[in-house]
Amino acid sequence: MNKEEILRRNQKWIETKLNRDGSYFDKLSEGQSPSFVYLGCSDSRVSPELFMGQEPGEVFVHRNIANLFHESDPSVMTVLQYAITALNIKDLVVCGHYGCGGVQLAMDGADFPWLQKIKDLHKNNSDADFKTMVELNVVQQCEELEELDLVKENDVKVHPWVFDLASGKIVDLSES
Ligand SMILES: [Zn+2]
Repeated sequence: MNKEEILRRNQKWIETKLNRDGSYFDKLSEGQSPSFVYLGCSDSRVSPELFMGQEPGEVFVHRNIANLFHESDPSVMTVLQYAITALNIKDLVVCGHYGCGGVQLAMDGADFPWLQKIKDLHKNNSDADFKTMVELNVVQQCEELEELDLVKENDVKVHPWVFDLASGKIVDLSES
């Protein structure tokens, strides 16, 4: 899709919103009070607002390859700090997805330093298949986040999810 088409769609979106609610953008510009902070994969098929049925202002999002949490990553840490201390969000979702290219690359042994923790996880679970590795990766990020002072001291609940592209469903790993 080219830029002109996107700008045309933007105009159409504005008109649709205003037709439903003439003060939509006045309200949107007043502020945000999202209920969830979401750490997910950058994969273009995994759009959290869409599959969570959320509108702009309702979910605070950070995405990177394979939904990884590194305490040394200022990008993810800034998002978490802002979400938890400035926006007072109490629920943190870590959402992977089946068919994740980042997990696949790590399992194939690709030489990308930022995937090292998935490679280590795979080494320790060498029998795990692709789907299971996606799940284990989510669980590992959740376990590390639960140990973070920022999360502990602010009573933030961490939710392990996987998005299933084949069905559109959210798989809640805390139920399995
Ligand atoms: Zn992915």
